Amino acid sequence: MPVVYDHIVIGVGSMGSSACYHLSKRGASVLGIEQFGIFHDQGAHGGETRIIRKAYFEHPDYIPLLERAYENWREIELVSGEKIYHETGILYAGPRGHALLEQIRQSAHLYSIPLHGSFKGDSFAYAENVDLPRDYEWMLEPAAGFLLTAKAIRSYVAAAQKNGATVHTHEKVLRWETLKDGVHVYTDKDEYIGKQLIVSAGPWSGKLLNISAHQLKITRQVLLWTQPADPNLFSEKRFPCWLIVDRNKPGGYYGFPVHDQALPETHGGFKLAYHYPGEPTDPEHVDRSIRPSDTDHLIDFQTRFLPKTKGQILATKTCLYSNSQDEHFVIDRLKDIQDRVTVAWGFSGHGFKFVSVVGEILADLSMFGKTNLPIGFLSASRLTS
Ligand SMILES: Cc1cc2nc3c(=O)[nH]c(=O)nc-3n(C[C@H](O)[C@H](O)[C@H](O)COP(=O)(O)OP(=O)(O)OC[C@H]3O[C@@H](n4cnc5c(N)ncnc54)[C@H](O)[C@@H]3O)c2cc1C
Repeated sequence: MPVVYDHIVIGVGSMGSSACYHLSKRGASVLGIEQFGIFHDQGAHGGETRIIRKAYFEHPDYIPLLERAYENWREIELVSGEKIYHETGILYAGPRGHALLEQIRQSAHLYSIPLHGSFKGDSFAYAENVDLPRDYEWMLEPAAGFLLTAKAIRSYVAAAQKNGATVHTHEKVLRWETLKDGVHVYTDKDEYIGKQLIVSAGPWSGKLLNISAHQLKITRQVLLWTQPADPNLFSEKRFPCWLIVDRNKPGGYYGFPVHDQALPETHGGFKLAYHYPGEPTDPEHVDRSIRPSDTDHLIDFQTRFLPKTKGQILATKTCLYSNSQDEHFVIDRLKDIQDRVTVAWGFSGHGFKFVSVVGEILADLSMFGKTNLPIGFLSASRLTS
């Protein structure tokens, strides 16, 4: 007979690692199953760092969740003794009155989030190192910064294991089904029964949950690290994270200061990328080679806005966005199968900052079928087929 667990979590990446921790902290028996190792560069969490910010332009309804996320990041830092969140502030800039900047301002106003700077004559804080066109405005959100992804995921998994959770790596879930006694999970190595199932499979969610390509689109994104002539000018003590709109393109360019934590995965240098869905791809067959068209526009952006950050290319990496139909997350219960399955997908290139709170929400849903955290706007029923 297969071993029976209270909860099985498919995918121990960003959201799944946190779910394993929050469930095990409450004394539940947990099995997490991960097809690769703990922290890898094949899915959505590769590439060292992720921005965390609160004046949310995507939608103000995320802000109560972000407030909880900030608290929960502090908790896992205390539990693990690791520094995961680096508060550098974030600089936003774009053409005066641009919709994205207006949405940031509105969110900040609604939730009293401090923002400094404006186009009304304030001098530009980073003027020596950022070239903004004359009609651009800027704002700085101080209580923002970046998260170290490897430390976050490894800390959650280590803490979950300490609480008694079982985590299997290099084991791929092939399929699952609900039966009378629970959810049966079949992998390439074994089979297991869970009283409850959580599917947090990131870019692979479509296959495991039978989601249409219309509702979930996986895209290939490229990250670039360069070596500035004077890296000290852009160190995390002197330079913030940033998001700058280029008036000719949708989305925005963003990046990170040179951070001072040497990890085996660290490339060093100045990291930048473009936040906009890239080329559609299949997570099983991603073209990981880097073409000139992947990096040319990033270097062109650097030349125009951040010329002092240009230099030798230290690294490039591909990573996957899981874009839902409306680019908002889906966190929900599957209604029609005996109330045993919780799902989290479609994090659309902006989910990592929420990992600490999504794990708590998934634990609530899997244990009690509901949560007190305000996730009504993230239900799957809003999507059209
Ligand atoms: C380039 C890039 C930049 C980003 N920047 C930011 C940012 O600055 N700020 C921010 O908040 N967010 C950012 N994001 C988004 C954020 O990283 C993702 O939203 C988040 O990592 C999604 O987490 P996930 O758990 O859904 O996916 P993942 O972290 O990929 O986890 C899913 C896991 O499930 C496993 N899995 C899948 N199928 C199976 C199976 N059949 N059997 C076993 N295991 C399986 C996978 O191997 C994987 O480990 C960025 C994403 C990318 C790609």
